[in-house]
Amino acid sequence: MEVRPPAVLRYITALLALAIVYIAAARAGLVLDAIAGFATLVWAPTGIALATLLLFGFRLWPAVLVGAFVVNLWSGAPLLGALGVAIGNTLEAVGGAFVLRRIPGFRLELDRLEDVASFVVLAAGLCTVISATIGVASLALAGTIQPSQVAVAWRAWWLGDLVGALVVAPLLLVWLSERRRALSSRRVGEAAVLTLILLCLNVYIFGGAASGASLEQTYLVFPALIFAALRFGHRGAVTAVFITTAIAVWGTVVGHGPFARPVLHQGLFALQTFIAVATTTFLLLGASVAEHHRSEEWLRRAREIAEEANRAKSDFLAVMSHELRTPLNAISGYVELLDMQIAGPVTEQQRSYLSRIQNSEQHLLALLEDVLGFARLETGRLAVSVQPVIVYDAIVALEGMLELEMQKKRLTFGRPTPDPSLVARADPEKLRQILLNLLANGVKFTPEGGQITVGAERVRDMVRVWVKDTGIGIPSDQLNNVFDPFYQVERGPTRKYPGMGLGLAIARDLARAMKGDVWLESTPGQGSTAWLALPAA
Ligand code: ADP
Repeated sequence: MEVRPPAVLRYITALLALAIVYIAAARAGLVLDAIAGFATLVWAPTGIALATLLLFGFRLWPAVLVGAFVVNLWSGAPLLGALGVAIGNTLEAVGGAFVLRRIPGFRLELDRLEDVASFVVLAAGLCTVISATIGVASLALAGTIQPSQVAVAWRAWWLGDLVGALVVAPLLLVWLSERRRALSSRRVGEAAVLTLILLCLNVYIFGGAASGASLEQTYLVFPALIFAALRFGHRGAVTAVFITTAIAVWGTVVGHGPFARPVLHQGLFALQTFIAVATTTFLLLGASVAEHHRSEEWLRRAREIAEEANRAKSDFLAVMSHELRTPLNAISGYVELLDMQIAGPVTEQQRSYLSRIQNSEQHLLALLEDVLGFARLETGRLAVSVQPVIVYDAIVALEGMLELEMQKKRLTFGRPTPDPSLVARADPEKLRQILLNLLANGVKFTPEGGQITVGAERVRDMVRVWVKDTGIGIPSDQLNNVFDPFYQVERGPTRKYPGMGLGLAIARDLARAMKGDVWLESTPGQGSTAWLALPAA
């Protein structure tokens, strides 16, 4: 069993670790030409303190206080001065972490534009004012900084903290806060090549002799930084900017590169500006790229979920409609038995009721057929096996199915002239289904006394069948929509015509599965013609 040290011990260890890292980073920074021995070019401890408090909680603040206090004593500040500076440094880190934590939804990964903007403005830009002000005031009061130096010291202090926050905190935040996904070996290779290029470029730009270096050559690093952000998002951006900053500082300090001056701190302002601008720019670019990747990822997930839901829906429809058919067949069987008077004599009125039951049952069965057919199409479980079919025979076979309905509405039916040479390559059952849907629509949408005409012809290598009615017609702007599943011209509870809006969708899909097509022509108020084309045999 793993033995975990007690919480207090862990807390003290964390405090000690942070204080040591803080002091080490500060001592390293002070080597770089500190103003009066205290304010420096890049004050990394600011970034370290801010990131640690954000990542591991405010309770680590005593480590910042102690760390800063020790560093300042070490550098020769008087006791009270060192205490003042330490308080300023602690308030800066606690304040920065506090404001960022207060922003709803703030992500430590810095992979959103608004988070980067808040970080740059509030934590790096504003909270560092606290430390610069309290720090410089404390040292001035203690007599360590001369009154004439106050303004210069304040600016250097603030810029040093700002740059430290900008460069160091994001690196820690991005790399320590995120659950990292393993990169493919190709990506690792790409990162390695990019790092190498960046190192060489930076050494070339910032390591060259100062006399030969011009400010313009600094721009050479930008394509590599852009590339890092584009290819590796926020992580690439912060890392590349950190590498650049580290080499730029090193080069300038040892007297090389475009920012080197005979007196070191003359060049520092330009270097700090360069670092601040480059860091902010690429943090923003990296976050923007990360946002773009995230929204693509969401879109992909959303699509997957939609597809899954669609499959589930189709499966459900298929199972449900299939299962409903069984009891329906039982109902129809018993109605037939009653009708045959097997269970005793049936009166005229009872017979008329039985016939209504049968009609409703037929209607329900047709609806279920539609749903089942649609579900099969949706789930891609549609298998067609084509063979030569004499079109005339297929049409005549359907007449019986609609006869009753046509009689009721006193519709006249014009059948095609018999032509056994008109042969289509079709799946007979699917062809029956398509023609039944088209004919049923004609009958359904034609008022009493109207006419349904069916014809067939050969056009080049296709056989065309048309079903023409003198019905209500379809508005031209909806002629294509009616092929969408569940689309009906007339909608809502007052709808006069039965149906589910699936017939045409199924008909078109079936026809296309047989390398044919279905389309409509229509004049509202005059009638419609539905066309079916299939390859001729
Ligand atoms: P359903 O007939 O079950 O509603 P369909 O997919 O067969 O579904 O048809 C979709 C819609 O197209 C119908 O609701 C109707 O508004 C319109 N429609 C189809 N055929 C005709 C027709 N012959 N005459 C008028 N409208 C039609």
